[in-house]
Order: sequence, then structure tokens, then C-alpha cells
Amino acid sequence: MSRIIPLSILTLFIILSGCHSVPYAEMPVFLKDGVGWHKVRIEGEVNLFRLRILAEGLETLPGNMATRVQAVVYHTNREHLASYYCGAREIYLAHALGGTICFDASAIIAKKDIYHEVAHLYEAGLSRQIAKEWAALSGDIYRPNYRDFYGNYHEFGVVDAYGLVNAREDIAVTVQEIYNYCADGDNKLAFAISRFTPENKGKMLRKLKILLETEMIDQEKHDKVKVLCEN
Ligand SMILES: [Zn+2]
Repeated sequence: MSRIIPLSILTLFIILSGCHSVPYAEMPVFLKDGVGWHKVRIEGEVNLFRLRILAEGLETLPGNMATRVQAVVYHTNREHLASYYCGAREIYLAHALGGTICFDASAIIAKKDIYHEVAHLYEAGLSRQIAKEWAALSGDIYRPNYRDFYGNYHEFGVVDAYGLVNAREDIAVTVQEIYNYCADGDNKLAFAISRFTPENKGKMLRKLKILLETEMIDQEKHDKVKVLCEN
């Protein structure tokens, strides 16, 4: 069934561009998610590889999360990307706001980036209480100089150094690494949790419960990661 997606995208591109990458496009594409097919507006510097990564990422995520994505923008112009963002926060690789995911088109975009940004979209639609509850669990770990902790981020109970930015990024990297581990077989999550203190493993178990209750992960993924926390 999943083979249909790249094939349908391929057909679209043959029609639109004679199979070359499209430097600037604005078009609706139907992508499959956990529920069925849904329409996503694609804008910017898009190519077959990026569409395929997007399609595979959305298909891996549950429908309740994937259907939040209404548009995906690929652009190298930071001012253009910033126009999608209401705040003054700096764009790093990508950001998510109100149904639109934006990516810096000069960067390599991986499936884990799709998981990360969709997690932001979904979490933004939940009660503010969720991020507060998460932050309260984490304690005083968030800091602007997260780059100083690339080698030992796990000491703080996060699964990626970028999770040290704030609770919302922590939620996004946790969701990202859970899907990366459970769906794509990447071991970064297992490595990080194996180095957590017993206290942080306990906190991770409670964070997993939050992700399960808010339907960001299903029972199967919850149980698979729970095992890592109990070892
Ligand atoms: Zn983020």
C-alpha cells in the first residue's frame, strides 16, 4: 500500500515538471496518514526526495497528528519563512505554526524532522497545561546554552541536547526519537535512556504516560519505550 504514495507523487512530478525538481511550486498533494488520504498544500523549493520523506513521515505518524498538517513550505529565504511565524523567535531548521510546517530548504530534511514539527503542531493544539506538567516533571534543566551539552545531555534526562531548550522542544524531541526508534530502528533513544539516572528513568515513565494520554504515541510504542526505562 505504501508504494502507492511515491508512485502517485512521481506521476504528479512527471506531469508537472518532466521529472526535474521544482524550484518554486505551490500545489496540493494528497498524502496518506493513519486515517486515510488528506490534502496538504506544498509550497516552495520542493523535489521528489523531500515529498517522499514527507509522505513517509506522515504515514508513520497516527492520523490524529498527521491530519494537523495543512501546508508544508520549503524555502531558503529566512525572511519568507519568518513571515509564517508570529513571534520573533529565530528559525533554526524548521518551525510549525497553525497547520503549516516550514523547512529551511538549504538543509537536509529527514523523517525525524517531520516527526518533530508535527509534534509541535499537535502539542500547540493541546491544553497549555501539558507543557507545564512536562516542565514540572523535568525540573530546572532548560537552558539557552544547550549546545554546550551535546556530549552529556542525557544527564538531564532528555533524549537529545535540543530538548534542553524548553519543555516544548523537549516534548518534540522525545516524540521525534520515539518514532525514530519504534518505526525506523534508530537507537539514539535507547542509548540516551540507558544513560539516564534511575530518577530520570522514573520521570521518563511519567512523560510516556503524558504522551500516551494525549495520543501522541500509542500503547505499543509506550510499552516498547517503557521497557528501556525499566532496565
Ligand atoms: Zn522544535
